[in-house]
This record gives sequence, structure tokens and C-alpha cells, in this order.
Amino acid sequence: MLNLRRISHETKTRDMSTAIDTLLNDSALDAGLHQIAQAVQQEKRLTVEQGIYLYEHAPLGYLGVLANFIREKKHGDKTYFNRNFHLEPTNVCLYTCTFCSYSRRIKKREDGWELSLEEMMEIIKKYDEEPVTEVHIVGGVLPQYDLEFYSQLFSQIRAHRPDLHVKALTPVEYHYIFKKAKVSYEEGMRLMKEAGLQSMPGGGAEIFHPEIRDQIAGGKCTGEQWLRIHEIWHELGMRSNATMLYGHIEEFKHRVDHMEQLRQLQDKTGGFQTFIPLKFRNQNNEMSHLPEVSAVEDLRNYAIARIYMDNFEHIKAYWPMIGRTTAQLSLAFGVDDIDGTIDDTTKIYSMAGSEEQNPALSTEELVQLIKAVGRHPIERGTLYNVVQDYQDFDFSQQPKKVKKGFVGLPVIDKTKA
Ligand code: SF4
Repeated sequence: MLNLRRISHETKTRDMSTAIDTLLNDSALDAGLHQIAQAVQQEKRLTVEQGIYLYEHAPLGYLGVLANFIREKKHGDKTYFNRNFHLEPTNVCLYTCTFCSYSRRIKKREDGWELSLEEMMEIIKKYDEEPVTEVHIVGGVLPQYDLEFYSQLFSQIRAHRPDLHVKALTPVEYHYIFKKAKVSYEEGMRLMKEAGLQSMPGGGAEIFHPEIRDQIAGGKCTGEQWLRIHEIWHELGMRSNATMLYGHIEEFKHRVDHMEQLRQLQDKTGGFQTFIPLKFRNQNNEMSHLPEVSAVEDLRNYAIARIYMDNFEHIKAYWPMIGRTTAQLSLAFGVDDIDGTIDDTTKIYSMAGSEEQNPALSTEELVQLIKAVGRHPIERGTLYNVVQDYQDFDFSQQPKKVKKGFVGLPVIDKTKA
């Protein structure tokens, strides 16, 4: 019997190589881009200078060919998503990052929310009947959310629902709470693991270079400290993700420096799973005077990330931040993961002016979104274990389930901010 999947995969592999060959045979291609295309074809690592060269000179179509070549070599058409929800303890924060649209300062704390341990567990319990596999916990930094609080939260979640993966907090919170508790990073991360923390999301990275970091995120952990906390976590045998906030006051060289530092740590530990470029959105923050970059720049950035980060397995587009259409397009520019169903449980991006004001997609909608651009939808667990292959899945055969109302967070009246 003919193996149609294999034939289609072989045809695709030929198409990918042909596309790069066509680029290489193009006499109009400049020498720098020719050299980079050759390096990609031969699976050679790009230098920092070549990374910057791509940002400065590479056209979108060229980047798409190279990034898609790498994406399909690694994953074929497979496109990952998960079923998750966010739990945000507070949006009051003692830091004052200039790009942040989400936080409220302590003197305006009545405009925000501060959930107790009991309230957070109640939210967790509302998902008891839902087939979610992950809770993503992140929020502002406040003294009462300390080592003791998070230890209790993680252990209570794990005791209540052992199959729910706890992905929580970033080095921004950990740096603060470990300092306050007077424990080293090593000791702190070990305590978090013992309490039930299973992986770390990639937030708080912003741009590592102090020239930029000091201006947009002064006061919180440095780039070095961010990297060190991830390194310690990886040394404990655990996994994490990494982000980069782009499209504000940084220059291309800062983006490449950021990716280079991550690439070097990944060489050392191998503990990162996914790189997630995050687009700066300009509403309701102190950098509202800056224009946002275009969707073309978003796609170029995904593609360059895929080409440059050769030791990262996955590149993720966070659909609530860039909208569904750009997320679909990104799948042809190196992206192989579009995050999760989310269930309208985060306000971080809607408050910054993203297209998705109530980010929630049903599993069927996410699957359709991926299939509509010819990709193969796979529901994954947090650690990329396959939960369900949706390529031939028949939703009409599933019992219709009445969905409970989503768990809403308090909506802030921004005119009072
Ligand atoms: S980005 Fe994070 S640390 Fe910075 S102000 Fe916002 S919530 Fe606080």
C-alpha cells in the first residue's frame, strides 16, 4: 500500500531544498546573504555579525525560505499547542518597567487585584473538570508574595491536582523573593522544586543588554541574574523557556546580543525548550509615544530567531500578542508552536493593546486555525510530550460539553490609572 504521508513528506523535503537552491542560484543575491543561505543549508551556525546582517539586509521572502527550511527539517508540518490557563496573583508591582501596561504601582494598588492563597486555589478548582494540562502562573512583584506563599501555592496545587503541570514565575520574582528570604539562588530554586514547581516560563528577559535594560526595566534582575537563575534550574534537571521583548528602543545589535547569550547558555545546559519573541505593544504604558513595528517586522524577527537559535528546538508565536492571522502566517516563518487555549485568563497583552482583547480559543478553533494554513496540529504537554494528534481527529464524534464560564480577572478602569 502506498504510504501517502511518507511520499508527501519526501516531496516537501525536496521542495525545501529546491527553494534554497533557487536562492543560491540567484545571481542578484548579495554575497553576504548567499554565504548565510549556504551556511543554513549546511547546518552551520551563524555568527553575531551574520545575525545583524540578516536584520539589516535580508528581505522577507529570503528569510521565509531559510526559516521554513529549518522548521520543516526539525518538525515537518507539526504545529504544537497546549491547553492551559493563566493564574495571575496580582497586577500590583513594586517595579516600574516602562513598557508594562499591566501593572499598577503600590500607591495605586486599589486599582489592581491581589489574590489570596485561598482565592488562587478556588480558581484552580474551577478547572477540575476541564482537560487542561498546565497552569501558567505569573504576575506583579509584591512583598506578601514571598517564598512561603509560593511554596504553599505550588504544593497545594500539586496535592489537589497532580496531573496539572505547574509552570510558574520568572527570575524577576525569584530574584526578589530569594533576596528577601536571604537564600541563595541555588537554595531557592531547590526549595521551589521541592514545593512542586515543574518548569519556568520565559518572561522577564526583555532585552539583556544593560544599555537597553536599564532604561526599560531598571531595578529588576539584570540579564546576568536572569540567565544564572535559568542555569541553576537547568542544573537541577528541569526545563524552561526564554523570551525577548522586541520593537521598542532596542537596536538590531541588542536583539542579536540577547539571542547570542541564550544560545551560549543553551550550549552549556540544553535546558531551554522554546524561544518566544514578544512584540512590544504601545498602549497604556510609558512608551506609548513609540510606534509599534509592523507585522512584516514580526515575521522577519521570527524567521531570524529560527535561523539564529540553532540549538533551540522550538520557536513560539504567542497568538494573544500578535493576533490570530499573524500567528498563522508565522507558521511559514520558522514558528512551530502557537501556545495555548488560554481561556481568557490573562490580561497582560490585552491591556497593552493587542488585537486579542479576550484571548480564548477552544481546542477545535485552535486546530482549525493550524489546519487552515496546511499544518499538522498536535496538542502537547508542557514538556512537548504528545497529548493528542489532531490531524485526523473528528470533533463531531465528541460529546458536546457545556463549558463553564471562564474565570475572569477584575477589569481595570484605565482612565483612573
Ligand atoms: S513587567 Fe513585570 S516586573 Fe515590570 S512592572 Fe510589569 S509586572 Fe512589574
